[in-house]
Amino acid sequence: MRSKYAGQCLCGGIHYSVDVDPVFAGNCHCKDCQRTSGSAFVPAMVFPEKDVVISGEAKYFASTADSGNTHSRGFCPHCGSQLFAKFSHLPGLLGIKAGTLNDSARYVPMLDFHVASAATWDVMNPELPKKQGGA
Ligand SMILES: [Zn+2]
Ligand SMILES: [Zn+2]
Repeated sequence: MRSKYAGQCLCGGIHYSVDVDPVFAGNCHCKDCQRTSGSAFVPAMVFPEKDVVISGEAKYFASTADSGNTHSRGFCPHCGSQLFAKFSHLPGLLGIKAGTLNDSARYVPMLDFHVASAATWDVMNPELPKKQGGA
């Protein structure tokens, strides 16, 4: 059976698949996401961790967000692709970065958040709700 959501890193060392829909999907424009992605925002989907099947092993880097919560970002130690995220205040949930999907059309953002930190050259969909701070 074909998974609802499947993706991989650039080198193919890490693959994932999920058969349930995300509990949250949105674009994070915070400075930490800009820095780690090298881009304007991170398109993030959040799933129950138990429903995500992963092959290969991501390395995690933990940092403290402005909220005081710990945010651990998972990336492929070989090619550097950013795939996953874990949040100290959201136990049992796993974030997946939508740019890693095999079928990018599977990602449907619900809102833009941390827009107060957005880069001056960031371009957002005006039809999506905007939140100044965290989602
Ligand atoms: Zn890789
Ligand atoms: Zn962010």
